[in-house]
Amino acid sequence: MSYRHIRMPENGQKITVKDNRIVVSDDPILGFIEGDGIGPDITRASLRIWDAAVEKAYGGRRKVHWAELFLGEKAAGIYDGDYFPAETLEAIQEVIVAIKGPLTTPVGGGFRSLNVSLRQELDLYACVRPITYYAGVPSPMKRPEEVSCILFRENTEDVYAGIEYKAGTPENEKLAKFLREEMGAEFFEGAGLGIKPISAFGTKRLVRKAVQHAIDNGHDSVTLVHKGNIQKFTEGAFRNWGYELAAEEFGDQTITEDQLWSEFNGKRPEGKVVIKDRIADIMFQLMQLRPAEFSVIATSNLNGDYLSDALAAEVGGMGIAPGANMADHVAVFEATHGTAPKYSNLDKVNPSSLMFSGCMMFNYIGWKEVSKLIENAFEKTVGQKIVTYDFARQMEGATEVPTSGFADALIKNL
Ligand code: NAP
Repeated sequence: MSYRHIRMPENGQKITVKDNRIVVSDDPILGFIEGDGIGPDITRASLRIWDAAVEKAYGGRRKVHWAELFLGEKAAGIYDGDYFPAETLEAIQEVIVAIKGPLTTPVGGGFRSLNVSLRQELDLYACVRPITYYAGVPSPMKRPEEVSCILFRENTEDVYAGIEYKAGTPENEKLAKFLREEMGAEFFEGAGLGIKPISAFGTKRLVRKAVQHAIDNGHDSVTLVHKGNIQKFTEGAFRNWGYELAAEEFGDQTITEDQLWSEFNGKRPEGKVVIKDRIADIMFQLMQLRPAEFSVIATSNLNGDYLSDALAAEVGGMGIAPGANMADHVAVFEATHGTAPKYSNLDKVNPSSLMFSGCMMFNYIGWKEVSKLIENAFEKTVGQKIVTYDFARQMEGATEVPTSGFADALIKNL
């Protein structure tokens, strides 16, 4: 494929898909998007760390060939004001695996969030966020080492579908009339109205990914988090379809929590993943009081949005929380924080959110040695109290270093 501004590396091979799995050579092409605000600082630092870790892990036998792709302000400068060039979408689909920094949503002009557009255009239906505690990271928890889970958030449906009607508009009045007169619904005059679609299709493909992840990685449970006691036909249906999917497609590898007690006296049979569910509000409490009971969480869009940030706070906050948006094969890994514009180009912020998103990416392509090296070096560096400003203000006796200095120290510790 030929592109206007994207230059694919001359060496390196594209990832392909065979038998429903990605096939990765020893010299794959991976895409990266720098992002806006602090994006260039954290991308520069992370690229250095990733390349150094790959070199350390494989001694030249494996190498990433990076393809720079463009979204956001950098894209607008290159593509005559286009923040969201079509060829970037094509290139992501071609390289299959990419990583991005944060993007600004330009204010005004009815501009949709670039992140939301990206998820929708590429149908990246699962937002995946591991919540991992690293020794030495400041945490408000008494036993932060008990927090270890991975959250799968549905990324395309729910109140994020954008089906909303402002109070006082003809569309709102038409819908209100229909709901009152034909459906017998009762609500206050002048209410704004929103629709929350949750489908069996959307739920099942998300839960499938979560259960498969639990099986592939030896986790003991998948918890469906929902608000089904109140929203029976959306959140409650999410729960029911989740159980249904597990029984239909993973019947040999899973049991329900009910079965765990009724048939196995509470003792999990070797190799079985327990499927359980919890109501969203109690889940926030449980994740503070008994986090060790949860390993894989599958939840709907809005619950997942709240829960993932709350859980990130338990293990060091947004500065280090990694994430990915995934379709069946195409995956875009990303820093979960925003562009923090007040810190742009100051070489100040913590690059770890993007760096750990890169670790997820290396795990995804099967290069687990790389992420292990980076994780160990991160713990060592934080253990030496060499940290960026965000950790420094929470630690006694820390040495505050800039973004680039943190990368230097971490590379030294690889
Ligand atoms: P933000 O950029 O995440 O920044 C909020 C605060 O979080 C910062 O002021 C800083 O806290 C802390 N922070 C963020 N990144 C950090 C890092 N790498 N290291 C250390 N601390 C970090 O949120 P925002 O200010 O609400 O949003 C700014 C822009 O980002 C908006 O245009 C928004 O649309 C966009 N955004 C993009 C994404 C994305 O691309 N995925 C996600 C969220 C927001 P202190 O002030 O305490 O130092």
